[in-house]
Amino acid sequence: MQKKIVIVGGGIGGLSTALACGHRDLPVQLIERNKVFAEVGAGIQISPNVVRLLEGWGLREGLDALACFPSQLEIRSALTADLLGRLPLGERAVKRYGARYATIARADLHGLLLKAVNAQGSTQLIVGNAVEFVSQDASAVTVTTADGQNRRANVLIGADGLWSQVRDFVRLDAQPQFSGYVAYRAMVAQADLPETLRSDDITAWLGPDFHAVQYPVHHGELLNVVIIVKAKAPAELDQWNQTADVQELQSHLANAAAPLQELVGSISKWNLWPLCGLPKVRSAQELAFGRIALLGDAAHPMLPFLAQGAGMAIEDAFAMADVLQQSTHDDADALERFARRRWKRNARVQAGAVRNGEIFHATGLKRWGRDAAMKLFGARMIDVPWLYRGM
Ligand SMILES: Cc1cc2nc3c(=O)[nH]c(=O)nc-3n(C[C@H](O)[C@H](O)[C@H](O)COP(=O)(O)OP(=O)(O)OC[C@H]3O[C@@H](n4cnc5c(N)ncnc54)[C@H](O)[C@@H]3O)c2cc1C
Repeated sequence: MQKKIVIVGGGIGGLSTALACGHRDLPVQLIERNKVFAEVGAGIQISPNVVRLLEGWGLREGLDALACFPSQLEIRSALTADLLGRLPLGERAVKRYGARYATIARADLHGLLLKAVNAQGSTQLIVGNAVEFVSQDASAVTVTTADGQNRRANVLIGADGLWSQVRDFVRLDAQPQFSGYVAYRAMVAQADLPETLRSDDITAWLGPDFHAVQYPVHHGELLNVVIIVKAKAPAELDQWNQTADVQELQSHLANAAAPLQELVGSISKWNLWPLCGLPKVRSAQELAFGRIALLGDAAHPMLPFLAQGAGMAIEDAFAMADVLQQSTHDDADALERFARRRWKRNARVQAGAVRNGEIFHATGLKRWGRDAAMKLFGARMIDVPWLYRGM
């Protein structure tokens, strides 16, 4: 008999899981609380470990049409604009890691995944209906949605993001906390910027107490800019797209180099995104609970300093479909295998992101040492082979 699989959440993690399951001939139901599947405007980097999976699911053509494939990542001092290091991407990434390094608007990636899921036809999408209650017994898991319906399934996958409702029913010890960082984000048409500020590359500006990253998205028409600073917790922690106070942003960048100041000054609309998270995953038991498993941000939210949150959700999706396809009868065992396969890598990426945050925001002697080491070791310091090679 066909296994009944319910996925909660239609973000990048949930849609990737639906798509991966479809590729293994596993039909799923996906429940999304929003009426329209719409992703907020921002960009993400997707490294070769992730591009490889997306291409394997048939998204190569879609990526070619919408993503950008920068030829390099430049690291610059945010104070002097000096070049500190350079990591060639492009062909080097393909040679070393078997796939390209891409940058893409979240909305574009989300749209590609949704289109592919619809084309596959094996996912029943249920939108505008939030999951409110979850329970399980020896034979099934029951999901109650806002419309009062109960759905029984063999397996429930919580891909419902950082503020996961599903997680609330299986982990009482996991309430997201403010990290001390906020992200200012903007997306601007390159055509609206002075020519000197337009760019086809990724540039990371490392300051003391802040850093900025810029890269092209939407086949190069738009430039995505994100600036992360240490700040007090905003009143609304779970609101992604709060309108930012530009003067406050500029005050964080008072000592920044002229090109960075100019870039920030050329953009009128910024959104504020408080960065919240959980402690890093400590064991497989934090990802699987009988017939219920968590993936993506619901399981292991991470600071964006390694640019891997969506990437790890996509890797999770691949691993989840793999274990579910292999399992004939023992669903809890399959989810446990998923958790054992994924928890250490996710924890390593979470820890790497925290460490990068400390390096990117280093002050005083540490900043001096960082800049000197970047100049000396360049690409070797910036490259992350264990991550980009994949699972
Ligand atoms: C500043 C910043 C920069 C980033 N840069 C990168 C990057 O460069 N590369 C990268 O890989 N990652 C990056 N990330 C991380 C990435 O955005 C997230 O890790 C990723 O989007 C998580 O996807 P998800 O599907 O797990 O969760 P989400 O995107 O949060 O999706 C969860 C979905 O579940 C739905 N949902 C929630 N509750 C319910 C419910 N009760 N019932 C039904 N549906 C529900 C929501 O509506 C949503 O659609 C960045 C993050 C930030 C903040």
